[in-house]
Amino acid sequence: MPDPSDAPDRPLAAASEAVRAGVVLRSTGSWYTVATETGEQVLARVRGRFRLEQEVLDETNPVAAGDRVRLRTEADGTALITEILPRHNQLSRRAAGRRVSREHVIVANVDFAWGVQAAALPTFNPGFLDRLLVMAEAYHIPAGIVINKADLLRDRADLQDAVFFWRDLYAGLGYPVLLTSALEGDGVGAFRTHLRDKTSVVAGPSGVGKSTLLNTVDPALDLKTGEISQKTRKGTHTTTFATLYPLTDGGYVADTPGLREFGLAGIAPEELSGYFVEMRPFIGECRYPDCTHDHEPGCAVADAVAEGTISEERFSSYLNILDSLRAGAADAGR
Ligand code: GDP
Ligand code: ZN
Repeated sequence: MPDPSDAPDRPLAAASEAVRAGVVLRSTGSWYTVATETGEQVLARVRGRFRLEQEVLDETNPVAAGDRVRLRTEADGTALITEILPRHNQLSRRAAGRRVSREHVIVANVDFAWGVQAAALPTFNPGFLDRLLVMAEAYHIPAGIVINKADLLRDRADLQDAVFFWRDLYAGLGYPVLLTSALEGDGVGAFRTHLRDKTSVVAGPSGVGKSTLLNTVDPALDLKTGEISQKTRKGTHTTTFATLYPLTDGGYVADTPGLREFGLAGIAPEELSGYFVEMRPFIGECRYPDCTHDHEPGCAVADAVAEGTISEERFSSYLNILDSLRAGAADAGR
């Protein structure tokens, strides 16, 4: 047995025994904020070797928010990420400005994706939701819809008709749809229950009330709302990084950049219809196996639209996304 006194690195070795597991909350450059099992937050770095491995994997960032990691505490009180546990999924976008596009992982290990829209102010935007749902289907992430600002529907029969149309359409496709009012509290309890003990992405255009709603779900979040948050987020590089916020009741909410930042990286045009749940039953019935359902003869999807089995609105979203995939502009969110 060696004498411990002649081991010069003894203090470091002792510290390295403190191996812990944690969840990455965010990255700021080469530092990561990691929540440990005890809920404590530590700053951590990544071993250089990970970066090299990721080059091979064609990902620009070695560690993303949501990653489950193992940490070794260093002598100076910071931590070293020594291991990234396998991801069960990841949301990513293409890294811009390269001829050969690489993946930028925005958030890993997502259990659920919520697309948030407002009943009004801003106007309900189904195109946004359909992109989110396609992305969720492509990444095998269960998804649902929150329609916030439900209080604005009061005494507005015209608005109700429109909003209930969308609610029924998406509910009919099997997606949970929640109507909430962050201002008055309706539906907030149901949303809170859905978020508990999961890592949830909550995405929606600015102004729909995401921050207000999440603050109502869990006041400890204390997210910035209104004009200020939009100003600080605009045009900054940090918009491509997600932040995970721990929920008091357990679980995390991921604040992700807008859907346009996700893009639909890697989806081939002929794959797209597979991510529209209501089109799936018809895909195999088309005359051509690689049918894109926009011009081909003998198309079962087009027939289903003509018969009203597939909604015109969803088919029109499908065609829009198909166009952007063909233009290679899926990442631009158009
Ligand atoms: P975000 O950009 O999606 O995070 O939206 P914010 O949370 O910043 O909210 C944008 C604006 O909508 C703010 O003025 C909020 O007060 C307002 N708002 C949020 N939730 C509701 C709601 O349920 N009803 C109404 N009427 N206004 C809301
Ligand atoms: Zn077809």
